[in-house]
Amino acid sequence: MLKLNSMEWTEEAKETLKKIPFFVRPKVKKEVEKYAKTKNVKVITQEFLLEAKKALLGKLSSSEKGYEVVGCFFKECKNTLKDLSGLLEKTEELLKKYDLTEFLLKKTGGHLKAHNKFFVGFAGCPNSCSRIHIMDIGIHLFVEVTYSKEVCEGCLSCISVCEEEAIVENKGDVEFFKNKCVGCGACLKVCPTSALASEFTGYKVYVGGKLGRHPRLATLVKVCKNEEEVLELIEKALIYYKKFNTKGERLGTIIQKRGFEEVKKFLLES
Ligand code: SF4
Ligand code: SF4
Ligand code: SF4
Repeated sequence: MLKLNSMEWTEEAKETLKKIPFFVRPKVKKEVEKYAKTKNVKVITQEFLLEAKKALLGKLSSSEKGYEVVGCFFKECKNTLKDLSGLLEKTEELLKKYDLTEFLLKKTGGHLKAHNKFFVGFAGCPNSCSRIHIMDIGIHLFVEVTYSKEVCEGCLSCISVCEEEAIVENKGDVEFFKNKCVGCGACLKVCPTSALASEFTGYKVYVGGKLGRHPRLATLVKVCKNEEEVLELIEKALIYYKKFNTKGERLGTIIQKRGFEEVKKFLLES
């Protein structure tokens, strides 16, 4: 559910905000509230939203960056497996260091458009609400689940919360199918004995997602164990992207031309 804690919004304004695409909504909300503070406005109404839209349109286009870091609502969501704030900040710094705005301005002959941007998306669980599969790089958290028959009490609470049918009852016993588990962690919250436990919380990293004329869903390239591994992979993807980019095209377009095996080899070699 969308929460608007930082400033008061009227119901009508909230409804308008909800119509804005998921992945740009947090940015729009932040910019509108920032603008409201400069005007000493305490409540965001529909009228103020329209005023802010007019005032911000020019500002947003002139300060357009060549990249965007997008997170889901992990801070307010009960499904999130870990706080991603630090990783989002470090990714933003990394993208800034690689100067994608200047790079894309040169590649596009000064006509940097929203569809040229390099998107990195994060999601706090495998539900991937921030649409990470259409980003240049998409990352979601997951848990590696283990099942221990010895401490299982057979209460069957886990079966009703698993949407993947990865846990089933077999003649009074519980059976866990690791290959069906997506690592959402829902079963861990209801298991009273820790028979279902998490070995570690990791990051699945996908590359090359995009929409447009030739859409492509991002492909899983690596399972990372920690933030450092994720950042290292993002950095390698940036190097690859800059090396083979000709006119500001998305990473997914480069992969469509050159093949996934090449980028995979580049990203995974030490
Ligand atoms: S991806 Fe998961 S953690 Fe993030 S908002 Fe969706 S359900 Fe919540
Ligand atoms: S982590 Fe999610 S998908 Fe895996 S067994 Fe538990 S509830 Fe099912
Ligand atoms: S919730 Fe835990 S104790 Fe209950 S059946 Fe599932 S694994 Fe066993």
